[in-house]
Amino acid sequence: MNRNYENIILQCADCGCEFDFSPEEQEFYAEKGFSTPKRCASCRSRNRQRKNEKRGGGGSNRPQVRYDVTCSACGVKTTVPFKPNQDKPLYCPDCYRSQRQD
Ligand SMILES: [Zn+2]
Ligand SMILES: [Zn+2]
Repeated sequence: MNRNYENIILQCADCGCEFDFSPEEQEFYAEKGFSTPKRCASCRSRNRQRKNEKRGGGGSNRPQVRYDVTCSACGVKTTVPFKPNQDKPLYCPDCYRSQRQD
C-alpha cells in the first residue's frame, strides 16, 4: 500500500539550504499528522538541542549565575549575567537600552 510519495526538495527556513523531504519522511509526517518541515535535519536537531538547554534539563551546562547590582543611572536593583566590574557603570535593562541609543 504505497501511496506514491515523491521526493520533494524543500528549502530550510533557517540556513536556506535545500534538503530532501523523502517519501519515507512524508509518510511518517502524514501518519503523525505533522506539517511539512520548514528546516533541514541539522537545523531541526540544533533547535531541539537549544530547547533542551532552555529547559535546563540537568545537562552539562552550568546554571546561569546572576549578580545583584544597583543601576548606576536610576539606582534600581537589578541583576547582570556577568561579574560586576567596579570600574564600569552598571545599568538596569531600561537604562542599558537608553545608553545604547545615544
Ligand atoms: Zn538548515
Ligand atoms: Zn536604571
